Amino acid sequence: MEKISVAVRFRPPAAAAVDPSHYSGGGGGDREWRVDDTRIALLHRAAPVPGASFAFDHVFDGTATNARIYGVLVRNLIRAAVDGFNGTAFAYGQTSSGKTFTMNGSADQPGIIPLSVRDVFDTAREAADREFLIRVSYMEIYNEEINDLLTLGSQKLPIHESLERGVYVAGLREEIVNSAEQVLELLELGEANRHFGETNMNVRSSRSHTIFRMVIESSAKNQMDSGDAIRVSVLNLVDLAGSERIAKTGAGGVRLKEGKHINKSLMILGNVINKLSESGKQRGHIPYRDSKLTRILQPALGGNAKTSIICTAAPEEIHVEETRGTLQFASRAKCVSNCAQVNEILTDAALLKRQNKEIEELRKKLQGSHSVVLEQVILKQRNDMHKSELERDRLAMELEEEKRLREALEHRLAEQQKLLDDLNSTSISPDQFNDFIQLDELKTPNSKERPNGFVASRAHYSKDVEFSPIPENLGTVADEDLWMQLNKGCITDLEMLEMTPGFKCSQSITEDKTSVSQNTSTFL
Ligand code: ADP
Ligand code: MG
Repeated sequence: MEKISVAVRFRPPAAAAVDPSHYSGGGGGDREWRVDDTRIALLHRAAPVPGASFAFDHVFDGTATNARIYGVLVRNLIRAAVDGFNGTAFAYGQTSSGKTFTMNGSADQPGIIPLSVRDVFDTAREAADREFLIRVSYMEIYNEEINDLLTLGSQKLPIHESLERGVYVAGLREEIVNSAEQVLELLELGEANRHFGETNMNVRSSRSHTIFRMVIESSAKNQMDSGDAIRVSVLNLVDLAGSERIAKTGAGGVRLKEGKHINKSLMILGNVINKLSESGKQRGHIPYRDSKLTRILQPALGGNAKTSIICTAAPEEIHVEETRGTLQFASRAKCVSNCAQVNEILTDAALLKRQNKEIEELRKKLQGSHSVVLEQVILKQRNDMHKSELERDRLAMELEEEKRLREALEHRLAEQQKLLDDLNSTSISPDQFNDFIQLDELKTPNSKERPNGFVASRAHYSKDVEFSPIPENLGTVADEDLWMQLNKGCITDLEMLEMTPGFKCSQSITEDKTSVSQNTSTFL
């Protein structure tokens, strides 16, 4: 729990605003404000007015610069916002007390908003281990209606509430920004839109609230460190409507009855602050929902946010009552405690971002495992290829062997053929047998295709088993070796061989003639 930071800032007297050398600290007249660093007292002819003394952490007189106020009251809040804490700074005070000067500043004295914007980017840049996504929006609450200042004509936007986003303005343009300059340009655009079609800008600005909002998301660059979620903080920089009773009009300053014309949001803000400043038991219901401003600022008021309030006051005697009202508001506000913590509640956008990151991580993992699978596939293919190569080599060798065998066989066949041819050419010509034998149907064993086959005749003594198997007539043309070769080493009993069917024994063959006998056989 920490208290809201509250500071009071007196602007220079109107004359001094034009020429600072005229600054006197008060507004002149019988009543004036005495101001030191932490206290403010109303004096009447130099005597303190009872019940009109206040103490604050910070009180600034008209000599204070925006930069000083920023440094004392807002800088820490901005740094905390970059670290993930919600933050809200707003200026509260009557019209012409210096709210807009404090928040926006002037050309030579930039206000809280431009100083904050620059600091956000500078601080984010310094946090080298984190990456940021910053979005801005700019809205106005006028007559209890929310208008988008970044989109001309985008008006009367509704407030919605969801578990994920909490309270939010539906349809509000959010611009993702990368630099302070870009944000300042958008602010200018917002101001231009706000002035569009407005005939009495002073009236409008005194009766409307502007809320400039930065949503700061960040995550650790190194995902290994990102045990912490994406941090999402909302920074509201608010320039409130004038807190005076706006019925105070004209030179006469006639006050009409309060309530009827009072700015509803501002009244509810006062109620909320009053309730929050009460001790727990008496507090009761806090009417956040009674106005759009308090609904939007709810986290900043007694909730999860660091909050700084700059109460601006006019020093002139004519504004004494309004200033008293402002100081009472400030006194109440400084009793309000907030409970700020690093905000990791995910907005839709953050959720989306986180999901994208998760998808990206999964995809990387998948790609990783995919490459492992691919590697395995490649390995398998390599193995298969290797096997195929071995098989191919084996087949080639077998083919080679078969070729070699075939050649050997062919060679052998050719040799045998040659032998047969030789035998044919050197065998007894059929003419030699003309006298004693009919050879028409005789054939050599393996030469059916050869009409003039090999012819062997049997000797009459062939029955003697111990006798040489070489047919008698063959003895003149083939030696025993050749005969053995032809018979593949077998000594064949020609007597036992089958007769060639259809063989007709020639009647002219005599017993003495050793030509082809009845037992002429076919060699196998
Ligand atoms: P508000 O927004 O509260 O109505 P403004 O910021 O418009 O009041 O201030 C009213 C006038 O007073 C402006 O002209 C502004 O320049 C001037 N002014 C306010 N505060 C200061 C200051 N601290 N120093 C110099 N001029 C100031
Ligand atoms: Mg203003």
